[in-house]
Amino acid sequence: MAEYKGILVFGELADGKLASITTELLGCGRKLADELKEGLSCLLASDAVGNLSKEAIAFGAGKVYVVEHPLLKEYQADSYMQVAEKLVKEISPRAILMGQTSLGRDLAPRLAFRLGTSLTTDCLNLSIDPATKLLVQTKPVYGGNAQAVFISKLMPQMVTVRSKAMSPLERDGSKKGEVIPTKVDIDTSKVRTKILETVKEEAVGIKLEDARVIVCGGRGVGGSEPFRTTLKELADLLHGAVGASRPPADNGWVPEAVHIGLTGKIVAPDIYIAVAVSGASQHIAGCSGSKHIIAINKDPEANIFREAEFGVVGKYEEVLPAFTKKLKELLAG
Ligand SMILES: Cc1cc2nc3c(=O)[nH]c(=O)nc-3n(C[C@H](O)[C@H](O)[C@H](O)COP(=O)(O)OP(=O)(O)OC[C@H]3O[C@@H](n4cnc5c(N)ncnc54)[C@H](O)[C@@H]3O)c2cc1C
Repeated sequence: MAEYKGILVFGELADGKLASITTELLGCGRKLADELKEGLSCLLASDAVGNLSKEAIAFGAGKVYVVEHPLLKEYQADSYMQVAEKLVKEISPRAILMGQTSLGRDLAPRLAFRLGTSLTTDCLNLSIDPATKLLVQTKPVYGGNAQAVFISKLMPQMVTVRSKAMSPLERDGSKKGEVIPTKVDIDTSKVRTKILETVKEEAVGIKLEDARVIVCGGRGVGGSEPFRTTLKELADLLHGAVGASRPPADNGWVPEAVHIGLTGKIVAPDIYIAVAVSGASQHIAGCSGSKHIIAINKDPEANIFREAEFGVVGKYEEVLPAFTKKLKELLAG
């Protein structure tokens, strides 16, 4: 039987850099590996990884396995699967950390099935049980209303981790590590889909996932116009982004990409301003990681006030412009 040892982070690249989830996973992986007194490695797969292996070391990896192949230029499940499966079987990590990202959500269950192990998705916290060395995995359940702790006895232990749930380490370019070029012969007969074209959604302003301030509009906003005017004005003033609950996205008032919640984006900004959002559990599942929630709602009984640190009971049409005006005065002064 294989001896399982060390932590493996499945790295993701974005726009020629390490994706922020990868630096977060490396930060968490380093802590776990140190507790175990074992190694932290990172897999980087792409058509050209370049200097990013050094970046992974600067963010905490001890070893970086680099797999370069033209078929890995963009994420494609069948080819990435072959790479991940081969490496995991070769190095037998104790735990595999992946992001709760589009890639992670797609690849992690497939990989877990191939390895005959379990997978805990969307984890918010990970630690090591000192007695058994098993991974203690905490994740939200019941639409974010409770947190459950899972321990799986199957090896390797596999998890996906929510973006912004973990903090990256301070980048340290002087850190030493090992870069291991790894050859994987991808069997093209098993690559059943082909990416014909990638259409990038036009990104205007700050990305929702990266925004430190989010102004989120709900159904009570009443239409698309306020998203482009009052909500956007406040978001711009705070160098933030505009988001929405599900109904505005379903109604076509905003692009689907800005819908927050169980079936949308999961965000964790410093400040989350919920405007005319009732605070349904499926919505809160996407924003409960925010540091401070501020709610504006005309219904004093709205559930959002149970989640919010600060709240204003009133019509947003009156409250929001007054809030923005005051903020402008404060910023100017
Ligand atoms: C399986 C499943 C998955 C789901 N996933 C998601 C998800 O990912 N994200 C999500 O958001 N929802 C999701 N939902 C839907 C969710 O249950 C709620 O229906 C939804 O979040 C409600 O959105 P809302 O708060 O914008 O609208 P409403 O619940 O209709 O609330 C509107 C609020 O606006 C207030 N309001 C109205 N007018 C004004 C005004 N002029 N000024 C101030 N306040 C005003 C009202 O008092 C009310 O509280 C999901 C549901 C299911 C069943």
